[in-house]
Amino acid sequence: MSSLVVLGATGSIGLQTLDVADRLGWEVVGLAARRAGDQLAQMADRYPDAQVVAVDPVPEGHDFFRRKFGRRYSRGKPSLLEMARLTGSVVVNGVVGSAGLEASIAALEAGNRLALANKESLVVGGELVMEAARQGELIPVDSEHSALYQCLVGEQLPEVSRLVLTASGGPFRGRSRAELARVGVAEALDHPTWNMGPRITIDSATLVNKGLEVIEAHYLFGLGFEKVSVIVHPQSIVHSMVEFVDGSFKAHLGVTDMRIPIQYALTYPERAPLELPEFDLARTNLTFEEVDREVFPALDLAYEAGRAGGTFPAAFNAADEVAVAAFLEGKIAFLGIPAVISEVLENHPSIKASSVEAVIGADRTARRAAEATIRRL
Ligand code: MG
Repeated sequence: MSSLVVLGATGSIGLQTLDVADRLGWEVVGLAARRAGDQLAQMADRYPDAQVVAVDPVPEGHDFFRRKFGRRYSRGKPSLLEMARLTGSVVVNGVVGSAGLEASIAALEAGNRLALANKESLVVGGELVMEAARQGELIPVDSEHSALYQCLVGEQLPEVSRLVLTASGGPFRGRSRAELARVGVAEALDHPTWNMGPRITIDSATLVNKGLEVIEAHYLFGLGFEKVSVIVHPQSIVHSMVEFVDGSFKAHLGVTDMRIPIQYALTYPERAPLELPEFDLARTNLTFEEVDREVFPALDLAYEAGRAGGTFPAAFNAADEVAVAAFLEGKIAFLGIPAVISEVLENHPSIKASSVEAVIGADRTARRAAEATIRRL
C-alpha cells in the first residue's frame, strides 16, 4: 500500500486529495495545515496513523492539539519540512504561498514523489525546484500542466514544437479595456467554469493565472517561452494541448474536476477508475480564440518576467498578490492590477535566483515596491 503526505490538507486541493486517497485505499501518514483548527483536528481523528503539523497555530489551538494528539502533533515550518521528507511517501503539496516552495524542495531532495499544486514552487523557485527534482519525482497537479504531462508521456521533448495552454478567458472574455476599467469586485469574483479561492479567481479574470502557468510550464518541461503559448477555450474541456514537429496535436479532455489530475499524480504511470458525472461529447461544443493582449496585458507581463528570469517571476507573483489584495479592498481599480505589476517589474533589480533566501528576499522587495506603487496610484 502507498503512503501519502498531504500538505495544505484543509484547503481545496487537500480535501480533494483525501477523497481520492480514501477511494484508492491509500494510507495517510502526514497531514499539515496552517492552523490547528477544528477541521484539522477532525482529519487527525479520521486518520489515526497520521502525523499532524500546524504551521502557524494560535496558542489555544496549539495547546489543544498538544493535549489531544500528543507526540503525533508538532508545529512550525521545520515540522512541515520534516513531514515533506517522510521517505517513501507521495507528498501532495497544496500549500498556499511561498512556504510551499521549501516544502517542495524538501520532498524532492528526500527522493519522494511530489504531486505539486503549490504555484509558488515553480513560479518563484523554478530553477531550485527543477534542480531538486533530479533527486525525486515531480508530477504536476494543476489541470493544465497535468494535461501537458499526460500528452507528453512516451514523447521526446525535442519533437515538441509548442505547448498550448488553454485559458477559459475568465468572466471578462470579450470585454473592451474601457469596460474593464469599470468592473467591480463582485463581478470579478464570478468565474464561469471553475469554483476557486478569491486570489486565483481574480488571477483568472486578469489572466495573471495563465501567465503564472506559462512560467510554470517553462520550468517544468524545460522549454523556451517561444514554445509555450496560450489559447482561449471558454468551455474548459480541453485542459491543454501539445503540438509536435510533424503537425500532430495531442489534447487532454475531460470534465473540470481536480480529482482527475490529483489522482493521476498519485497513480502515475497507472490509472485508476474515478466516478464522475457523465461526459457527453456529443453535446459539447469546443471553441478556441486568441487572447486579446490589449485587454489582458498581464499575460505579456508574465512572458516578460519569465524571459528576464532570475527573481523576476517571483517579483511578478508578489506584485500581483499585493495588487489583488488592494483590488479586493477597493483601493485600486481592476486595471490597476496589471499597472502595479508592470511598475514593479520595471524597477525590479536583476538578481540570480540562486537560493531560497534570494527568492524570498526578492519577493519581499517586490511586495514593498507594489505597496508603494499602490499608494501613488
Ligand atoms: Mg490551472
